[in-house]
Amino acid sequence: MEFGWAPEQVQYRERVKAALDDLLPADWDETYVPESYASDLQVQFSREFCAKLAERGLLVPHWPKEYGGNESPDWEHFILGEEMKAAGEPRGPQYMNVNWIGPTLLKYGTEAQKAQHVQGIASGTVIWCQGFSEPNAGTDLAALRTRAERDGDHYIVNGSKIWTSYARTADWCFLLARTGPTRKDISILLIPMDTPGISVTSFPGMIKDGHLNEVFFTDVRVPVANRVGEEGEAWTIVTHALSYERVGVPRYHTGLQALELAVEQLKEEGRWHDDPIVRSRAGSIAAKFEGARMLTYLVVDQRVKKLPSNTDANLSRVASLEAVIEMLNFLAEFLPDCLSGGNALLEDYYRINIPAGITGGTNEIQLDLVAQRGLGLPRG
Ligand SMILES: Cc1cc2nc3c(=O)[nH]c(=O)nc-3n(C[C@H](O)[C@H](O)[C@H](O)COP(=O)(O)OP(=O)(O)OC[C@H]3O[C@@H](n4cnc5c(N)ncnc54)[C@H](O)[C@@H]3O)c2cc1C
Repeated sequence: MEFGWAPEQVQYRERVKAALDDLLPADWDETYVPESYASDLQVQFSREFCAKLAERGLLVPHWPKEYGGNESPDWEHFILGEEMKAAGEPRGPQYMNVNWIGPTLLKYGTEAQKAQHVQGIASGTVIWCQGFSEPNAGTDLAALRTRAERDGDHYIVNGSKIWTSYARTADWCFLLARTGPTRKDISILLIPMDTPGISVTSFPGMIKDGHLNEVFFTDVRVPVANRVGEEGEAWTIVTHALSYERVGVPRYHTGLQALELAVEQLKEEGRWHDDPIVRSRAGSIAAKFEGARMLTYLVVDQRVKKLPSNTDANLSRVASLEAVIEMLNFLAEFLPDCLSGGNALLEDYYRINIPAGITGGTNEIQLDLVAQRGLGLPRG
């Protein structure tokens, strides 16, 4: 495949870069980026930043005009995502809003939900969290136990979620809850995080603050009008949502930036020119990130052409994650001192990416999907 950008896409990228130059504070790299995009500081900043992006038509360019978009080609949204990620993701958690929560509500939400939430997301001021995983339901989401029992025109929600990134500062939760006896009886509820009966507890970990939270629901009353789709329709909707999430984060961008930093560091330490093993490992990582980039572009191109979805999205995610894992191993092997105070940017990259093969569906599961659905192999 030969890939090149059209002149209008180059122009669009320049427009996004100019907006970033204009809107990011002078101390963005020193003060904000090291805090990670799940930190309270960055989450608060994202509300101001995304509102300004929205004013410039740069938050949801590909959405319908009636919902704040400009009906631009999907490539523009993708270019926007690449540049945001390269800049340290100043949209903070709102990357989820525009990548999958908004598109899911546009497709499955009621008119009232669209008017409230899709418009809210397009304004750039609302923070969402994703309440899917539970202590015994991660990969096997169908095992989740949080339940929503019908009580007139409300549901009463009881249970708990874990790993809920951004929960501490979120305004709304996109929640999966059990509404019936079988494994597939799961529904989606949209819940304001300040509803009585919700409490959030954060816990520490290797990844930076803001990602690791537990959310507890005790007799939380949620109007039936806040359900997305029919009762028990969560699987169809979530499968659609995750197909957007899978190519949502262009990891090759930050990966190649980190590789460049690592090479600079190795040169400074006089360990680059004379060590063929270090050079060949770095070359292999660069090639893997470039391969992941091409696969990602292939999937975006399929979306733009409205082709049916296939396992290329899983494959592009696996390619990205394998490059990331090789990069993390490279840092641990050749620059261990950088990861414990020696180089803040490399340490930051390491900490943020250490769970990369887990979040949003693990690498093993992506490979299973490629084997079964892409290659037609039997279930193991
Ligand atoms: C930093 C971070 C942020 C997160 N943010 C959120 C969030 O905002 N919202 C949310 O809902 N969740 C979030 N998660 C949770 C994440 O989605 C889950 O961790 C993930 O789905 C895996 O679930 P688990 O941790 O229960 O692991 P498990 O499902 O127990 O898996 C453990 C291991 O077993 C393997 N495995 C499991 N089943 C199979 C199988 N059938 N075949 C082959 N291998 C298998 C997995 O690949 C994995 O290696 C986050 C996680 C992290 C680490």
